[in-house]
This record gives sequence, structure tokens and C-alpha cells, in this order.
Amino acid sequence: MINCEECGKRMSDTATSCPNCGARHKAVVRISAGRKNSLIIFGFIITMIGVVLYYNQYTTSIPDNLYSIESMKEWSSADSSLRMYYAILTCIGIGLLIGGLFSKTKE
Ligand SMILES: [Zn+2]
Repeated sequence: MINCEECGKRMSDTATSCPNCGARHKAVVRISAGRKNSLIIFGFIITMIGVVLYYNQYTTSIPDNLYSIESMKEWSSADSSLRMYYAILTCIGIGLLIGGLFSKTKE
């Protein structure tokens, strides 16, 4: 239950308008506290995996003969697509994390 923004009367949080004064109110998606926590944890884990894979890819795959322009070109073109996927994975994780943090829980 929430209070109506217009008249202050108690109303259902799933109602799109106040039954007393008829004022419309924004429908807010509410999730359970347990689901909110798992969303935050899940998002955090995905973010961490994405970040670790991204930097792992960066540091372990540098060729020995780094001073050769040809091997440098080869290295950067081969890994750039993988790094992009890891960057996307990180973004998804951050998205889930933020979504979990800012989601409203049921009362
Ligand atoms: Zn009202």
C-alpha cells in the first residue's frame, strides 16, 4: 500500500489511479527483497568476471616479440573482438547491478 500523491489516502501500489480522487500515478515495478539481492549479487559477479576476463586477455596474450610491428598488428586484431565481448559482458553486469540497486521492493 502507498499514499496517493494528490489526496494522501491509502491506495494499492498496483493501481494506476487513485480510487478516492481518481489521480493517476506512475506504475512502479516492485520486486521481492530476495530477488533484488540476487539481482545485485548476480550483476556484481558478471561485472567481476567481465573485468577479469578483459584484463586477463590484455596481459596474457601479449606476444614475446612485441617490438615487431607485424606481431603487434596480429595481436591487436585477433583479440579486439574477444575484448569487445568481455566489455559487453561487463556492461550487462553493471546494468543488472544498477537495476538491482535502484529497483523498488515490495512492502
Ligand atoms: Zn487520491
